[in-house]
Amino acid sequence: MDVRELENNPNFNAGKGSVLTNAGTVEMEACIMDGNTKRCGAVSGLTTVINPISLSRLVMEKTPHIYLAFDGAEAFAREQGVETIDSSHFITPENIERLKQAKEAKRVQIDYSQPIQKDVEKELPAASGGSQLGTVGCVAVDNQGNLAAATSTGGLVNKMVGRIGDTPIIGSGTYANNLCAVSATGKGEAIIRHTVARDVAAVMEFKGLSLKEASAYVVEECVPRGNVGLIAVSASGEVTMPFNTTGMFRACATEDGYSQIGIWTSVE
Ligand code: ASP
Repeated sequence: MDVRELENNPNFNAGKGSVLTNAGTVEMEACIMDGNTKRCGAVSGLTTVINPISLSRLVMEKTPHIYLAFDGAEAFAREQGVETIDSSHFITPENIERLKQAKEAKRVQIDYSQPIQKDVEKELPAASGGSQLGTVGCVAVDNQGNLAAATSTGGLVNKMVGRIGDTPIIGSGTYANNLCAVSATGKGEAIIRHTVARDVAAVMEFKGLSLKEASAYVVEECVPRGNVGLIAVSASGEVTMPFNTTGMFRACATEDGYSQIGIWTSVE
């Protein structure tokens, strides 16, 4: 699977389907990391680049830096001749509606000085914090054990203009080394605080746990419920896709034809 295909599909929160900021604009971000060399590239604040993941790869390959954002990232995109389009291309009617709902839910929350009523409270996390869509990510390993991770997102619905999430932050939403490749989704602020992707690798390295054990430990024990999901693969080809949210769209495929897809509770 190519991250660009997911970015081009409006059903996912990345590229064409990116959720909107509180100003009704898109600010896309993406990150890529090569586990073997630890080379990586990241971008934020993109408004016209059709495939943010491709620009993050160019940052990795063509600059001495790791992370470009906003005007500088857009200027680099022009310089590299990557495909761009008017920002309105990314703004779908579904995401205009999601933003409306998120603002409405926030207004309801602000209007009540008393504790939020139960049924309203139930509606709030998805409407105001969750994207209700998925950030997209891929992790891969080849037959030599070389690992790579890539993640792309529009961020969170109704985010402040200028907000940067976990996706482009190496070690938070995206990480790869010689042990594993990890790509995370969920509430960026929680994922950053808990350095989720790097923690999976660190727990493997320092505690000697398997990929599955290390990922389960990070997702179940370290990050509050409802905040995170991740996909990960190890150098030996072990795959795990745990989450502590209600569900997570996920899939796995191997060269010899095995495939697995899931949305709700993990059956691994
Ligand atoms: N993690 C992303 C962010 O906070 C959102 C998501 O995964 O849907 O920017």
